[in-house]
Amino acid sequence: ATPTALMVGVGRAAQLGILIKGQDALEASGRIDTVVLDKTGTVTSGTMRVTATAFADGHHELDALRLACSVEASSEHAIARAIAEHAIERGAEAHPVELYETLPGLGARALVDGRDVVIGNKRLVAAHLAEPSALRGFASSEHSEPGDTTVYLAVDGACVARFSLLDTIKESAAPTVERLRALGLHTILLSGDGPGPANRVGALIGVDEVIAGVLPTEKADIIRRLQHAGRTVAMVGDGINDAAALATANLGLAMVDGTDIAMKSADIILVRDDLGVIVDAVQLSRRTLNAIT
Ligand code: ADP
Ligand code: MG
Repeated sequence: ATPTALMVGVGRAAQLGILIKGQDALEASGRIDTVVLDKTGTVTSGTMRVTATAFADGHHELDALRLACSVEASSEHAIARAIAEHAIERGAEAHPVELYETLPGLGARALVDGRDVVIGNKRLVAAHLAEPSALRGFASSEHSEPGDTTVYLAVDGACVARFSLLDTIKESAAPTVERLRALGLHTILLSGDGPGPANRVGALIGVDEVIAGVLPTEKADIIRRLQHAGRTVAMVGDGINDAAALATANLGLAMVDGTDIAMKSADIILVRDDLGVIVDAVQLSRRTLNAIT
């Protein structure tokens, strides 16, 4: 494309709520054949709610809620906010934490009142249990739907609670996937969440493929694997855990209210909070490239 055509394209994009950081990005987006969508915060609203809880026999519920709330109060993660809110609504109060650490794609850990508290997915919590088989009873207990996001709470090596959460899918998600397909693009939902919730969301929005249970570092590996298979990949994400994948993709698109780091790693910033803007970006760049050839 000529520099003039590209400049016009960049200007037109800005009017549509698309900020293009370099003209290369506009050229690249005209060639993509695969669109990888992050789940939490990109396809879903990033606001979650706790739908069910289960507590270990003999463990005081309010104590479990207080420990969960204390650790999660330090995090901006959608799951952390939902759990803290749920616990506070039930009368729990957050206590100060020490040695807080966030484990991206897994959960978090801290000392609360001298107790070792770990909260997160099965992979993380099982690794901190004195008896990993203790999770099994919890995993199969009632009030847990296969489409729920499941988080476990371990205190001093014993699993004491389970939280089931549901997220809200953005209204623009399914129509966007449909329009991407109409443009001949292959769509993939990529998530750090388990296969249950990832497949539920994937089916509801109609993507071609779902890849679940991936760690933040693995997200970039998956993009690389697709590229080695000959695909030209656009990645759409929002979170800090998407930064490497956004930078690896041929084209990285960050949703507007995403974290700073995600925006720095992206080539295109989607300022309109509507997934349809992805389609606009692809169409615009195709037109821009065609205008010259
Ligand atoms: P996604 O790829 O869908 O945006 P993440 O990579 O942020 O999801 O998280 C993957 C999984 O790690 C979550 O589904 C959850 O089980 C667990 N997890 C991450 N952060 C937390 C947290 N603060 N509290 C509890 N669980 C967490
Ligand atoms: Mg996310």
